Amino acid sequence: MDISNKVVIITGASSGIGEATAKLLSQKGAKLVLGARRLTNLENLVKEIKANGGDAVAIKADVTNREDCKHLANIAIEKYGKIDVLVNNAGLMPLSFLDKLKIDEWDRMIDTNIKGVLYCFAAVLPSMKSQKSGHIINISSIAGRRVMKGGSVYCATKFAVTALSEGMRQELSPRDNIKVTCIEPGAVTTELRNTITDQDIINNLAKRKEEFEYLEAIDIAESILYAISQPSRVNINEILVLPTGQG
Ligand code: NDP
Repeated sequence: MDISNKVVIITGASSGIGEATAKLLSQKGAKLVLGARRLTNLENLVKEIKANGGDAVAIKADVTNREDCKHLANIAIEKYGKIDVLVNNAGLMPLSFLDKLKIDEWDRMIDTNIKGVLYCFAAVLPSMKSQKSGHIINISSIAGRRVMKGGSVYCATKFAVTALSEGMRQELSPRDNIKVTCIEPGAVTTELRNTITDQDIINNLAKRKEEFEYLEAIDIAESILYAISQPSRVNINEILVLPTGQG
């Protein structure tokens, strides 16, 4: 299916999976509203997209702030007239062992990974309901299926994203024609691990990185494109993508 002229909001588009998704979808003709806190990164991305003939706008938006999430939706409507797809991608992963009691990091993960997803969902829902179509894509993780030591709080946030995705699907897909897709990547090479402050986790991950080849952000962008490109009767509910070498 042709996705040209679809209006897509992507949160966390300033790096990693969000950035790769923005580049790929713009190549396919989608019009993009790109949100994140690092505006300079977004502006550089928009310049690149426009230089390649695409159409996108950069908006400074912190998903832990409800008004910022509403602003993303308002800009999409003002500039492009509708919202077809929300990619709820912004997330943080400061992994730590529970007994380190990094409570501020727990708060930030809960605020960004769970509340951020809900706030952006709430911001786009009214227009998707009134147009009787839309697509919510939530980026969960393999950590939304399996708990790992040192990842309890992160896993809890991603279990929540997976649960919310199924709840959204049950309530909105049959009644309002709003598709819901939960994407569950394994390890991907991005900046995600830069927020980790627990030295034991940093040491463990350095060893793990040598054990198998991580995915690239484009691999997940391709999954998102696949979900968006389906005919209207097809709702891709869940996509689990692991590196071939990840156990
Ligand atoms: P990155 O760190 O490269 O990207 C995370 C993005 O989230 C950044 O653009 C960052 O932008 C944004 N972000 C963080 N906090 C906020 C906030 N409060 N408001 C708005 N944007 C925010 O990592 P990834 O690309 O890997 O992460 C994208 C998603 O993929 C996350 O949800 C992550 O949990 C998930 N994921 C990643 C995996 C991996 O191995 N990399 C595996 C499974 C899932 P800025 O700092 O500019 O605000």
